[in-house]
Amino acid sequence: MTTPLAVVPSTPAATSPQVRPGSRADRMSKPLATDTLRSLAENHGVCVRPLAIRRTDTHTGQTEIVEVPCGATLAAKCKPCAERNRRLRIQQIREGWHLETEPTPAPEPAGDGVLELVRLRAHLEFERDDAERNARWDQIPDLDTGIAEVEEAIAKTGLRGHLTPEARESKERKIRSTKRRADVAELPRLPVENRTIGRAYAGRSGKTHRPSMLLTLTLGSYGPVHSSRRRGVYLVPCECGQRHGERDELLGTPIDPTTYDYRRAALDAIHFARVLDRWWQNLRRAAGWKVQYAGAVELQKRLTPHAHFAIRGTLPRRLVKQVAAATYHQVWWPAFDKPRYSLDKPPVWDAGQGAYIDPRTKQPLTTWTAAVDQLGEDAEPAYVARLGTIDPREVKGVEGGTREAERCIRYVTKYVTKDLGDQVRPRGQAAQAHFDRLHAELAVLPCSPSCANWLLYGVQPDGAKPNLVPGRCTGKVHQRHTLGFTGRRVLISREWSGKTLVDHRADNRDWVRAILAGNLDGHHEDQADTPDPSRYRFELARPGDPDLPPVQHRILRAISTRLQWRSALARARDRAPAVSATQDHTTAALAA
Ligand SMILES: [Zn+2]
Ligand SMILES: [Zn+2]
Ligand SMILES: [Zn+2]
Repeated sequence: MTTPLAVVPSTPAATSPQVRPGSRADRMSKPLATDTLRSLAENHGVCVRPLAIRRTDTHTGQTEIVEVPCGATLAAKCKPCAERNRRLRIQQIREGWHLETEPTPAPEPAGDGVLELVRLRAHLEFERDDAERNARWDQIPDLDTGIAEVEEAIAKTGLRGHLTPEARESKERKIRSTKRRADVAELPRLPVENRTIGRAYAGRSGKTHRPSMLLTLTLGSYGPVHSSRRRGVYLVPCECGQRHGERDELLGTPIDPTTYDYRRAALDAIHFARVLDRWWQNLRRAAGWKVQYAGAVELQKRLTPHAHFAIRGTLPRRLVKQVAAATYHQVWWPAFDKPRYSLDKPPVWDAGQGAYIDPRTKQPLTTWTAAVDQLGEDAEPAYVARLGTIDPREVKGVEGGTREAERCIRYVTKYVTKDLGDQVRPRGQAAQAHFDRLHAELAVLPCSPSCANWLLYGVQPDGAKPNLVPGRCTGKVHQRHTLGFTGRRVLISREWSGKTLVDHRADNRDWVRAILAGNLDGHHEDQADTPDPSRYRFELARPGDPDLPPVQHRILRAISTRLQWRSALARARDRAPAVSATQDHTTAALAA
């Protein structure tokens, strides 16, 4: 329940000689205090919307405010936290990519930090319940915000699964036949060895090589788009006959928007996460060992999601192509190829029948359960999402510890702090039209069994209730910032480095402590992992609490702490030249 600093576009502090000192124009030209504080915090890697938690020592009765960084992964919410998260990802990918020995898959016990948050979540639940019982309705929205924030923080710790059931879980009722499709070639199927390390090759000079791979997985074509490609210094003409420069606004837009298959583009984006899951299952079976990967999903210029992956070890290119061609995900929903109703005359809710009815005939629509039950044994899936073919230029071998490996890691993590939609802000008319057209398609397709859009296809959504408006489903799939893809942005397999993000964070702290030993008492850090957590009680501090300074004061204090810490670190490093580490250790730790 902290107030994030407002994001105000900064006004350039123009110093024009015509401006009279002290005038309004002069005052307006001065930088805004909130902007300055925000950018200072950002420069020093200090969270701009810290969560304040009151910790009460049950032995002494003393209370103290403990700050928890917000832990946002998107720069739009908090740049320092998002950047810190990205650096940890870079470190994680680097450590796992060219491993030479099997990592021990770490069992993932909830660390003290997680338990603190879960306890805090419990207190909030209690308070909310208490407020509800005593009809203190005004407190509920505040508590809900608090709960959402704590849950976000919990999610960031790597705790798997959910603490509480989600609002409405959409269950797939029946698992359909797992028989492979007849239109897809058989894949080799080997017993999967318990191995995650790739093969090593003896080099000529007796050196052992352990090459790994970088691979891009893309969806199929929905129609030709304007593109540019270089062959050496030669710019290859686009299919439209023109040559497009790198910054041409037409790039990625369809050459013929009227024949571009927007429906399939939208459906593939919605189901891309499942297709990726199938790909890894198929690849492991066909390769015969537990292939490990770390990668991220991004949007291409044509607004289709694709994914870059670092893969440990190498696989034959032929096999990679073969698996891609045989990878698909079948959607076992009732058919939705043709809308039966329009957005302006949709089925209406009938309270008497407790159902959505046809506005003309007054007959109730098929219920979700009935529609799914009607799908017989020989039914066809409502949709089949497939992977596109793999461009041979998008598969390459990379040696560990090389400059190329580092370049690839940066490439994979380049956009992870941005929303998918933010990454490709449309520039120019054609790009805007393309974006809008795809979004319009996403707005009327069903996102899940409970989606209001089912009404357009003559089916009552799962768990139908009054006030469902097709085209107005609030599911993330339909939003402009996702453009259909709502899966995880960063995908890292379980046995990549044998460490979770939390472990990587802890490594950084240990390293800094090793340098600082004796220089700082570690006061700020040690409090985070006290040996006896049961001694303390935690609750979220409220903006009105007398002992809670305003967020601005807390940020100022955090900046000062950071500066002191940084100079102590520099002094300690000067004294102890034996300790070395990469730049990333230092920066990641300072941002921790
Ligand atoms: Zn933050
Ligand atoms: Zn073109
Ligand atoms: Zn929906």
